[in-house]
Amino acid sequence: MKSSFTRTLRFKVRSESYGWLGAAAVEVNQVFNFCNEAALLAATRTDLKRKWFTGFDLCNLTSGSSQYFERIGADTIQRICVEYAQKRSAAKRRRLRWRISRGARRSLGWIPFKAASLKRKGRALRFCGKTFRIFEAERLNDVKWGQGCFAQDAVGDWWLCLPVELPVEQRAASEESVGIDLGLKDIAVTSDGERLEAGRFYRGMEARIAQAQRRGHRRQAKRLHRKAARRRADALHQFSRRLVNQYETIFVGDVSSQKLVRTRMAKSVLDSGWCMLKRMLQYKGEHAGRSVEVVSERNTTRACSVCGALLGPTGMDMLAVRHWECSECGAGHDRDHNAARNIRYVGLRTQASVCGNELWHDMIPVEQDRPVLVRHGWGACYATA
Ligand SMILES: [Zn+2]
Repeated sequence: MKSSFTRTLRFKVRSESYGWLGAAAVEVNQVFNFCNEAALLAATRTDLKRKWFTGFDLCNLTSGSSQYFERIGADTIQRICVEYAQKRSAAKRRRLRWRISRGARRSLGWIPFKAASLKRKGRALRFCGKTFRIFEAERLNDVKWGQGCFAQDAVGDWWLCLPVELPVEQRAASEESVGIDLGLKDIAVTSDGERLEAGRFYRGMEARIAQAQRRGHRRQAKRLHRKAARRRADALHQFSRRLVNQYETIFVGDVSSQKLVRTRMAKSVLDSGWCMLKRMLQYKGEHAGRSVEVVSERNTTRACSVCGALLGPTGMDMLAVRHWECSECGAGHDRDHNAARNIRYVGLRTQASVCGNELWHDMIPVEQDRPVLVRHGWGACYATA
């Protein structure tokens, strides 16, 4: 078991430093574009000296260049070189997009630095010979940070992002396990019937964003977008925190592409909501010593969570069916709640086979025309599918 984990803390920088940060970001862009150009030239040479530059090569090339810059230092230049090389290798491209410093299409500001070049000074911070004040500086008490960055968001505000090491807290959960079905109408439904509604973060916001855009208030529109995104992140944080506190084992269904078809909402909105929730469960779970597992959601919508018969709604045409009744055992089901319960069974079954405990099993039969034995921990019932 790990004794600590890394989390990135974000602090809003006070606006008096925005001018300096903006100017430093221009210098960062110059270094980045230099790396881009040098790497492209080296990769496209026609003689024998053609080379794929690594971060180390770029650091060598730029060494000593900090004297030509007014604001950024050698550590920032090295970080840019290393990050550039990593991004370029990940993208598998000979060059990346240039960073643009001015005009409507300018890149959002970014100033990386090494851990040692940011110093605490009372309630403020020192960086590159300048004092910065941030909001909620008390969150920095007793933490040790690694290499971080200053980053600008679409609204134009600057944030200080610092990865910190936090100790793992072990606390026992009150309940054993839960299954989570990720869906459209609700972002998530648990096997205990708890729901996280999808539309509520944007409720009333869409109209205001559209209005601001019509009137040409671009900054206002961006502000509203940021607000909606924050509300959503906030709701996801609360939801995932509750689950991690309450359950020892959490099973999340893998999301099928089927769910993404036929929806009025943007795919990216749903997608990022699901990913965000999974990520939060993962790191919060890790923090609290819980196990979080992704299980296949195959057949979880079709199967009845009481008797296991595959009689539920299936396919494209049945997506609209929210409630159904099992014709085998007569149990009434809410579509997503039923799926969440099945996800929990599937998760427990795979877990059981790992530790040799076969008490929970045989939910979700694979073939339809075969009698299935269903046994739950609290009793047994037999059914023919
Ligand atoms: Zn049934």
